[in-house]
Amino acid sequence: MITASKDQFESPDFYALDGLLTEEHKLIRQSVRDFVKKEISPNIEEWAQNAHFPYEIVKKFGDVGAFGPTIPETYGGGGLDYISYGLIMQEIERGDSGMRSTASVQGSLVMYPIYKFGNEAQRNKYLPKLASGEWLGCFGLTEPDHGSNPSGMVTNFKDAGDHYVLNGAKMWISNSPKADVAVVWAKSEEGRIHGLIVERGMEGFSTPETHGKWSLRASTTGELVFDNVKVPKENLLEGKSGLGAPMMCLDSARFGIAWGAIGAAMDCYDSARRYSLERHQFGKPIGSFQLTQKKLSEMLTEITKSQLLNYRLGQLFNEGKATTAQISMAKRNAVEVALNIAREARQIHGGMGITGEYPMMRHMANLESVVTYEGTHDIHLLILGKEITGIPAFE
Ligand SMILES: Cc1cc2nc3c(=O)[nH]c(=O)nc-3n(C[C@H](O)[C@H](O)[C@H](O)COP(=O)(O)OP(=O)(O)OC[C@H]3O[C@@H](n4cnc5c(N)ncnc54)[C@H](O)[C@@H]3O)c2cc1C
Repeated sequence: MITASKDQFESPDFYALDGLLTEEHKLIRQSVRDFVKKEISPNIEEWAQNAHFPYEIVKKFGDVGAFGPTIPETYGGGGLDYISYGLIMQEIERGDSGMRSTASVQGSLVMYPIYKFGNEAQRNKYLPKLASGEWLGCFGLTEPDHGSNPSGMVTNFKDAGDHYVLNGAKMWISNSPKADVAVVWAKSEEGRIHGLIVERGMEGFSTPETHGKWSLRASTTGELVFDNVKVPKENLLEGKSGLGAPMMCLDSARFGIAWGAIGAAMDCYDSARRYSLERHQFGKPIGSFQLTQKKLSEMLTEITKSQLLNYRLGQLFNEGKATTAQISMAKRNAVEVALNIAREARQIHGGMGITGEYPMMRHMANLESVVTYEGTHDIHLLILGKEITGIPAFE
């Protein structure tokens, strides 16, 4: 049994950002923070070290409103704004990036496309069950030979009269081994990308688990394999086709990552701050040494700048004005800040920092996935480069 220290997290708010939040925002944040302290913090080290995905958390996430916060209440969602969504992701990832991945995928990559591109029958069939956590979903875009370049995908479907026949494979799919439904992106006979809803139990559909990850160990990851899967025609998402459709989903999920990664950074900073006052060397708290103060000051500065960036991006999302390049900047910035803070905070903890008593090593390892998925760090840089110059350097 691995025991982690009691969760004593206190959130940094150096620029009094709480003054910009509504009472509802603060209540939502508090309820998710309480949830994380009760359901995630006491267990996460053991889950992560044992590479265990706690399936029972899915229903609990549904109960606390972590799935589809911005989806209308008619379909079981939260009917909330994007700042609320960001705060929920921040609090969950403060607990663990793998746990946040489960919630992000369900809300932004499964419920969002069904809500946005699906018809009324599809919305009514899937969204309430996904919102409540009765069903778990996954999102299949990446393929073994097509990661940063999803437009090259080879997964395809053919019209076979009263149904489609789906063939191909997806890789690195969060939630896949336990998912009840998968939103899968595949090419039609005309070579156009469409979304299809594939359900567990369809003949020829399997979801082998990926083992041996050093990162996101409490999240389950796997493949999606389609061997002549008969998909009913009513499972096609008709509202939008082309690469722009999955990219819209990723915009929404990347926003959640920007907030979430800063949650992980806040956890590392808070642990380092407390440890620097408790740990004595040379007869003094290590927090009294200038080099420790430099580390803590720089962490707080980067967290504060990122909080402001995320908040403004949330406002732009609420107004429907956030651009893909703005989202790239926030995702890229947040993950880099979080990774640097995890490393610096680990140093402040000395040798103790490498143990499961403290969260830094777990956050650091998790963030190595977060810096890669939903667009790698370099791809986001190139999206910004294209925005600035008008010249795409990644094609
Ligand atoms: C734990 C985990 C969970 C994931 N969950 C999901 C999921 O739920 N659904 C899903 O669809 N996918 C998922 N992914 C996949 C993820 O989105 C991809 O790993 C990511 O897009 C990168 O693709 P790749 O791994 O094939 O790397 P590659 O695309 O092969 O990239 C390798 C390196 O080359 C660089 N590179 C590539 N092209 C260029 C270029 N044009 N210019 C400069 N550099 C370039 C990249 O930046 C990177 O450093 C997940 C990945 C992980 C690790």
